[in-house]
Amino acid sequence: MSKILVIAEHLDGKLNSATARVVSAAAAVGGDAIDVLVLGDAPDAIAAEAAKIEGVSRVLTVTRAENAHMLAATAAPQIAKAAEGYSHVFGPSTTTGKDLMPRVAALLGVAQVSDVMTVESSHVFTRPIYAGNAIVTVEAPTDHTVVATIRSASWKAADNGDSAAPVEALTLDIELPAHTRFVELKQDKSDRPDLQSAPRVVSGGRGVGSKENFDIIYKLADKLNAAVGASRAAVDAGYVPNDMQVGQTGKIIAPELYMAFGISGAIQHLTGIKDAGTIVAINKDADAPIFEIADIGLVGDLFKIIPEIEAALG
Ligand SMILES: Cc1cc2nc3c(=O)[nH]c(=O)nc-3n(C[C@H](O)[C@H](O)[C@H](O)COP(=O)(O)OP(=O)(O)OC[C@H]3O[C@@H](n4cnc5c(N)ncnc54)[C@H](O)[C@@H]3O)c2cc1C
Repeated sequence: MSKILVIAEHLDGKLNSATARVVSAAAAVGGDAIDVLVLGDAPDAIAAEAAKIEGVSRVLTVTRAENAHMLAATAAPQIAKAAEGYSHVFGPSTTTGKDLMPRVAALLGVAQVSDVMTVESSHVFTRPIYAGNAIVTVEAPTDHTVVATIRSASWKAADNGDSAAPVEALTLDIELPAHTRFVELKQDKSDRPDLQSAPRVVSGGRGVGSKENFDIIYKLADKLNAAVGASRAAVDAGYVPNDMQVGQTGKIIAPELYMAFGISGAIQHLTGIKDAGTIVAINKDADAPIFEIADIGLVGDLFKIIPEIEAALG
């Protein structure tokens, strides 16, 4: 019978929505229990949020000063210890999860199943390969713990349930490595919605032409209350910071609406938006590959079309 431990991801005292997506994948495995593990120096508020997610059986908290900031080197041994008795340990395939979960897998002596898209049975999963051009079916051995990262874009976040699951404090009797320590977190502060979880994303590519010209993308995004993304060419040209990159080596996203301006539609970019609901492409080249996957395509100059869209929005 399956007993699944879901690793909560959080920052600044708030649970990341990726956690509820992982719970959905855990629910697809089914089984006896889905417990969420929250590591923190003051995890109670985060645990209370996690407890509300539908399908969660228990929330386990580990309170330690070392957990004030997420460090894979110190979190992994705690998770490996907490994983005793569980058949599965799931985390999100976010940047944090990709750093953390392979260490957990190594400590448990198993190979990680990465980027789970679907659950076929308790030990059989599908995942993308070749930048999402092929889907492979992976079978994990049934006599070992399954450690997996869950591809956030493939799963809807589990809703909040009617009642909260119990929260229990866990004490793990282990010494943590001291070779890695937190120094500083540098991150851009923005009032715009988070690119990875926003329902609407407006993206610009090389066609936008410059950092200054990107203002037109920000303005439209603000009008639509959308997050802003970019192609790698726009990032490499210095128009925008690299945490805005969408695609194979950027963020994999699944917004309800994705609007691409001046983006040609290279396969590495499309990999990041395959799961988007409606894709709108604006490009002056009628043969741009992005039109092959766009639900709505407009051939034209983005600098003419964006003001027209804004005017139509009122
Ligand atoms: C290993 C690897 C990983 C990669 N990872 C990523 C990734 O994660 N994300 C990513 O995006 N790319 C990635 N790339 C790069 C990718 O192959 C493309 O080079 C990149 O996506 C191109 O960006 P672009 O569409 O903005 O630029 P271009 O391909 O140069 O396209 C610009 C488009 O803008 C249009 N245009 C120009 N002016 C206007 C205008 N005024 N109005 C309307 N349209 C206009 C043009 O017609 C053109 O189609 C990766 C490549 C490799 C090899």
